[in-house]
Amino acid sequence: MKEHISTSSKLSASKIFHFFKEFKKYPERYRRYCAQMDATPTGSNTITTKEIWNITLGQLDYVKITVKYTLEPSKEIRYEIIEGLGEGLQNRIAITENEGSTGLLLSFIYLDIYALFYGMDSEFNRILQYFVDRTFYFLEGRTAEMETGDLCTNCKNGHLIPLPGVNKGDKHISRDLICDTCGKETGYVKVQVEEKISASSSVKVD
Ligand SMILES: [Zn+2]
Repeated sequence: MKEHISTSSKLSASKIFHFFKEFKKYPERYRRYCAQMDATPTGSNTITTKEIWNITLGQLDYVKITVKYTLEPSKEIRYEIIEGLGEGLQNRIAITENEGSTGLLLSFIYLDIYALFYGMDSEFNRILQYFVDRTFYFLEGRTAEMETGDLCTNCKNGHLIPLPGVNKGDKHISRDLICDTCGKETGYVKVQVEEKISASSSVKVD
């Protein structure tokens, strides 16, 4: 299968490589889709993961897969689904250092699985945009806030939708979210920077 996108970054190849092998951070980074990621080293350059991804396929609303990753430091991460839906599927992330920038061929296993069933339709492109946005958001060192559409961290099945009654303050809009499946509420304050107002934020932990 072909890589999903080709792009470049100012960050070093080693930093990007390290970023992609932090598997335990995937549920936070891609929480709209990634419900679980357990990684176990299985050799000097291999890691085996147990992954659960939220995806609607007929009666199923998730897939559970075992994936083998082969790491070539600062150059390539190859992966293969070795158990579960899509078994045998292979793809890779490749990194090349050029003068002043780092070239990237990116693939996301969720999209490999999605494309097996739905092809590369408009929804594929929307999901790809999500993965790319989230990847660069975290690569650039920012941290996450909960937002509408995120996977519920409680039931890991439903998605967050806004509670009725948006409260508009002078300096920010605070909003609570609720899971559309289990009903668990997640409070947060999302700061919207407006003219001449400096941002500050706080996150309410439930
Ligand atoms: Zn839930």
